[in-house]
Amino acid sequence: MENENHFDYIICGGGASGLMLALALCSDSYFYDKKILIIEKESKNSNDRTWCFWEAKGSVWDSLLYNQWDVAEFKASNFSKEIALDPFQYKMIRGIDFYKKIQSELASKPNITILEEEVSSIEDQKNHVSVSGTKRQFRGQKVFSSIPTRRHLEHKKKFPVLHQHFIGWFVKTEHPIFDPKTIQFMDFDLPQKGNTRFIYVLPFSAHEALVEYTLFSADLLKDEEYEAAITDYLNQKNAGEFSIEDREQGCIPMTAYPFWKHNSPNVMHIGTAGGWTKASTGFTFQKSMRKTKEVINFLKTGQDLNNMEQRNRFWFYDLLFLDVLSKHNEKGHMLFSLMFKKNKPERIFKFLDEQTSFLEEIKIMRSFPVGLFIKALWKRIF
Ligand SMILES: Cc1cc2nc3c(=O)[nH]c(=O)nc-3n(C[C@H](O)[C@H](O)[C@H](O)COP(=O)(O)OP(=O)(O)OC[C@H]3O[C@@H](n4cnc5c(N)ncnc54)[C@H](O)[C@@H]3O)c2cc1C
Repeated sequence: MENENHFDYIICGGGASGLMLALALCSDSYFYDKKILIIEKESKNSNDRTWCFWEAKGSVWDSLLYNQWDVAEFKASNFSKEIALDPFQYKMIRGIDFYKKIQSELASKPNITILEEEVSSIEDQKNHVSVSGTKRQFRGQKVFSSIPTRRHLEHKKKFPVLHQHFIGWFVKTEHPIFDPKTIQFMDFDLPQKGNTRFIYVLPFSAHEALVEYTLFSADLLKDEEYEAAITDYLNQKNAGEFSIEDREQGCIPMTAYPFWKHNSPNVMHIGTAGGWTKASTGFTFQKSMRKTKEVINFLKTGQDLNNMEQRNRFWFYDLLFLDVLSKHNEKGHMLFSLMFKKNKPERIFKFLDEQTSFLEEIKIMRSFPVGLFIKALWKRIF
């Protein structure tokens, strides 16, 4: 008799990447006969985050969109640029809408089981993988894990680690200070204090927006510091009285550490834990969509999971960028300003999406001070 704790695929962690993978597996007839388990430690019934990303109009997530924008602004102390995003749109999905929608789609699939339980260990036993939960034991032929890891922190010397860390307030202001059509992608026009610091604003109406104080830096701040910076920003904009309707907080690793080194023939790390976070920006959602498609195609080859190539030339660009930004954290505002000053927005967004041609990449690289990057390259080679 079939053992109820045996599965073809086990997905540990039912957050962004785990649910994307589960949905992709059960939307592809190749996998219809596979028994799939998702083990997630939380009930995922709260709006624990919002995801933003850019992509062309009309996509699989459009029914879930909370908001979308066609224009962005980049700002620094001596330069600002309004950016028409076409052919892209900047899109926002609330975590809760994503979890609910995918969980309900998965609930209608006979081959999927979702359990709320904490995973305590995953061991590749060569002919299967043992997954121990706090209450039960499971056996999977292939296992995908998005459970966060701290491994990258042990290798900071070789692969510097910065964080995209922030607090965001969903505010309602007395005065109409926001342009609901235009997001503030990065506003560096504030004290940098030796780091890369900016304000990010997603407006919903003239009086409502998500306002985040964000750093790309090694060390986190006390909550009060992020909050004081948001308050300063709102006061400078003459927001008047304002209320905080909701808040979010995040700390996303920015590192080129090769997380995939820990994959084995039957275990693959996915999401941030698998190195799917874009090291130079912290954006993960969109890259996870791309990587999910790659995983689906790779599974069909029947090869060992650790044979899937995870590195490309963009990984190397990110590695050099992180080398420079971690050594010269105070230069971040200047590097991003040069990139936005000297390049068409479409080229920048394509580059960050890892979709540019080599010629376009050369054009982007020529925007930056050559000396800084040559030094970083030299160090990497010798
Ligand atoms: C507040 C916030 C805002 C963000 N905004 C953006 C954005 O706008 N755009 C963007 O591209 N990226 C954004 N990110 C970064 C990134 O997209 C998200 O962190 C994304 O959720 C990462 O997906 P993931 O699958 O790697 O991790 P998660 O979505 O965190 O999923 C991992 C899952 O594993 C579960 N888990 C952990 N330990 C165990 C265990 N032992 N057993 C079982 N389950 C376990 C967790 O509960 C979680 O559900 C944001 C991150 C945060 C925190």
